[in-house]
Amino acid sequence: MARTAQLLSVVIPVYGEGAHIGRSLETIRAKLLALSTPFEMVLVDDGSKDDTWARLEELKASLPELRAFSLSRNFGKEAAIFAGLQKSRGDAVVVMDSDLQHPPALIGEMVALWRDQGYDVVNAVKRRRGDEGTVRGLLSRLYYRLFAALAGTRMEGAADFKLIDRSVVKAYCDLPERNLFFRGLMSWMGYRQIDLPFAVEARTGGGTKWSLRKLAALALNSISAFSTVPLQFVTTIGGLFLIFALGLAAQTIYLKVMGRAEEGFPTVILLLLLSSSVLMIALGIIGQYLARIYDEVKRRPRYLMHRSTESDS
Ligand code: UDP
Ligand code: MG
Repeated sequence: MARTAQLLSVVIPVYGEGAHIGRSLETIRAKLLALSTPFEMVLVDDGSKDDTWARLEELKASLPELRAFSLSRNFGKEAAIFAGLQKSRGDAVVVMDSDLQHPPALIGEMVALWRDQGYDVVNAVKRRRGDEGTVRGLLSRLYYRLFAALAGTRMEGAADFKLIDRSVVKAYCDLPERNLFFRGLMSWMGYRQIDLPFAVEARTGGGTKWSLRKLAALALNSISAFSTVPLQFVTTIGGLFLIFALGLAAQTIYLKVMGRAEEGFPTVILLLLLSSSVLMIALGIIGQYLARIYDEVKRRPRYLMHRSTESDS
């Protein structure tokens, strides 16, 4: 099944990359021109505090394929990607980072897999992680293990660098949930997918926009969005605790009947500490799901668009 690409979209979320966004876009554009397929570059400024938006407006003059949009504040990369997908018009859409860590040289191969072999989603997967510190690397490996165990979806090496067919973009944009997790949802969506390994490049400039706190929040939210195993975990812990409690109760009654009831004050303290921490953790897990439900029922828009280089919006 060979497809024809009338238009290829490249969606790029940007947050505070004013210093090198021009260089990145020139590099990406050069690769796209070489493909000799009409294309558009959909840039979504995720409420940058630096001069990113001014740069994008300037670049519009030298990059005719550029369409830039800006969110009213920093809504996060997920929201920015979503906004870009909604604005894109291509038959196939490539999502990539703005810092050249996702090598634009791969786009040609991704397009070929989509066009000539009929794949709906081409996932670029990291062969080796880029310039991440060892603690980060360790934590992220731990997270992917946990996610795989709890959600049943393997995501190791997954990146937000993908080519997606228009039909899948439409299905993604029609998803009703507010809490989006592009990587996880893409793997959940199915269709014909293929992985394409790549080596993460060094960042062109600046530093990562992800603090450990932001990453931890993403990890928690993505796990609670994809798995209810932690809730069942609460039940399991409760069950184990009950068995333990019955044993201890039997022993206590036995000793009492035999008239050998000990003082047992340390036991009381230990039990109190143990059971209250188990309760707190259980409440916390339930709270996490409650918070997710609360976020969903509010039905707030995923982002607010504030400016664009289009005259009609
Ligand atoms: N980004 C964004 N909003 C944010 C954080 C990041 O749009 O709140 C963009 C950022 O400009 C870049 C991409 O998401 O294009 C990946 O960010 P970064 O390079 O900081 O992440 P890393 O490569 O370290 O995972
Ligand atoms: Mg990066």
